[in-house]
Amino acid sequence: MKKDTLLGRSGRDPQQNAGAINTPVYRASTIVFPDIETYASRPSNDYKIPRYGIHGNPTTWALEEAVSKMEGGYNAVAVCSGLAAISAALCAFVTAGDHLLITDSVYGPTRTFCDKRLATFGVEIQYFDPQIGGAISKLIKSNTKAIFCESPGSLTFEMQDITAIAHEAHARNIPVLADTTWGTPYFFRSFDAGVDVSIHAGTKYIVGHSDVMLGVIVTNEKYWLPLRQTVADYGYCSNGDDCYLALRGFRTIGVRMKQQMHNALQVAQWLQQHRLVKRVLYPALESDPGHQLWKRDFQGAASLFSFVLHPVSKPQLAAFVNTLELFGIGSSWGGYESLITVPQISGLRTATTWPNDGPVIRLHIGLEDPEDLIADLERGLAQLNKSN
Ligand SMILES: *Cc1c(COP(=O)(O)O)cnc(C)c1O
Repeated sequence: MKKDTLLGRSGRDPQQNAGAINTPVYRASTIVFPDIETYASRPSNDYKIPRYGIHGNPTTWALEEAVSKMEGGYNAVAVCSGLAAISAALCAFVTAGDHLLITDSVYGPTRTFCDKRLATFGVEIQYFDPQIGGAISKLIKSNTKAIFCESPGSLTFEMQDITAIAHEAHARNIPVLADTTWGTPYFFRSFDAGVDVSIHAGTKYIVGHSDVMLGVIVTNEKYWLPLRQTVADYGYCSNGDDCYLALRGFRTIGVRMKQQMHNALQVAQWLQQHRLVKRVLYPALESDPGHQLWKRDFQGAASLFSFVLHPVSKPQLAAFVNTLELFGIGSSWGGYESLITVPQISGLRTATTWPNDGPVIRLHIGLEDPEDLIADLERGLAQLNKSN
């Protein structure tokens, strides 16, 4: 089946659900059993049978199946947020005395979790240049237990050669974990690229409508049980209502992402030729240094990218952002609406130095007409120019 067909077919079974197309919302904490023998013999390693609310229900399994099949994984588990998915996945692989390698471009709260939590538990954290590729072998030590990638990084958009990193990792039996929120299960076949554990902030494109917090971890067969058991040990879970909404959003991820990519490219190309813009950071652009890697590994691009302005004053930057009418000022992305943030990069780097002195502006491009978005940005940049 082609992926657009699969998107509509997986994660549902009408004949099990009174003919309803969609798996209904199950709300359940307690699960009761017909007799004591069945209760006593419930298998503890099977996380797709009714046991207790924390282990899921048919609605959460429907979402997990749909995401896992799209991505080409073995199995998946949904948890309450993207960050919970990241922390649980990391804790499945590292413990006191272990060494963990992480890309320097990683999502800020992932860095905080590692520096503030894992480090105090005795895990040795080392950040690496996102462009390291196969040279990761030089950083691998005898106690390296996991390598964590994020490609492209969600603020600065450096592409990573995950295949080259995975090649070195797998030769030493080290799992590759990756935050694949930008690629999504629709545009990035992470397991083909060599990822073992793929982590999504479902909150973004999978949910797609800015209303649900969710994380999804997809793994290959080798790492499924250790990962799933860790999630259970931490008590992380999701619920039927959120997973129902997420699966409803996921059904349209293909049309949304294709349209949003088209819109984003138009906005990015327009920005690229603007005289106040120094660089656009978007691997989908031919001029981007990560373009070839992106073309090799991805079937499309998320509509999230950044651009670097030539140095401007704080009031000038504020005049630009505050003039915009169609871009909400806010974190998050992956919904149908456009957003803008002005992230501070310098404090988020330890293995590399960020070479640009002008501000980095991150845009999420929604489903609005790109001509309106460009006109809005044009007004904003004109206002910047007028202030000082
Ligand atoms: C938002 C985000 C997360 C965390 O997801 P939450 O659901 O907000 O916890 C993780 N990684 C990336 C790249 C993100 O953008």
